[in-house]
Amino acid sequence: MKPEMLCETALEQMDRFMDGALSDAETERFAAHAGACEKCQAELELRERTRASLRRAIRQPIDTTSLGQRIHAAVHVEASRRFRWQPHTLALAATLLIAVSVGAAYQLRQLWSAAVDQDSYIAKISEGVTTIMRVGLKDHIHCVTFRKWPKETPKVDELVTAMEPKYRPVATIVGANMPKNYEIVKAHHCAYRERNYVHIAMKDADGKYFSLVLARKEAGETFASSSLRRVLDKPNFAVYGENVERFQIAGFETRDYLAYVIGDTTTENNTRLAGTLAAPLREFLDSLEG
Ligand SMILES: [Zn+2]
Ligand SMILES: [Zn+2]
Repeated sequence: MKPEMLCETALEQMDRFMDGALSDAETERFAAHAGACEKCQAELELRERTRASLRRAIRQPIDTTSLGQRIHAAVHVEASRRFRWQPHTLALAATLLIAVSVGAAYQLRQLWSAAVDQDSYIAKISEGVTTIMRVGLKDHIHCVTFRKWPKETPKVDELVTAMEPKYRPVATIVGANMPKNYEIVKAHHCAYRERNYVHIAMKDADGKYFSLVLARKEAGETFASSSLRRVLDKPNFAVYGENVERFQIAGFETRDYLAYVIGDTTTENNTRLAGTLAAPLREFLDSLEG
């Protein structure tokens, strides 16, 4: 093993790593360091986010705010996150470490750019659905499509210990109402772009992912005012449906929550599963709302 790289060297090489301009040997040493060093990982994250913000700021049409002000605002927002440890940073650090151990510098760059592309992929897919459906879809893609999964899934009792106690019944409701060919692989709180979710991820017998995503409503959010198709229509309760690419999305709401059932399945199956989960979930969420 070559002598370990110092933070100083890593910082110096960081921009060239992001540009893919380091040699394979340099990339490997850089990634070995960044994968193990929290500070450099955070800095790498910050720089990539800053770059992404700049790209976004530049792409936006010119409005009354000057470009300079918007760039300043974008950079400021990103800089304020400086040493906040984002969950996906941890996942990325772990991935970098794995890649280092197999010694593939090329793969490292691919992995890194895949992580960076996550935001643009999510944004692109989301364009295909109405604003209110994006809320849940973004979390499903972010958390299910872009995560590495452990080989052995812990038992649900173990998984739910990651949840705030008051939300643990959600996992129980899902477990009790989903067909037996769906296995719960995650029961946790997750976040994407400043929004927090209660998330139950499942895998079916064919290895396809399925999610129940709950989000607290933000001002003005409701399915009722959307032009979405009602896939289930009861007197005081409706389930709305939409799909984009391979994602089937069904959504319903309570006073304070938006709930989404998202799967890589047929529209009929997704609607049926949403219908099965909706009644007990609504009852539970109503009880939380008091
Ligand atoms: Zn370092
Ligand atoms: Zn999640």
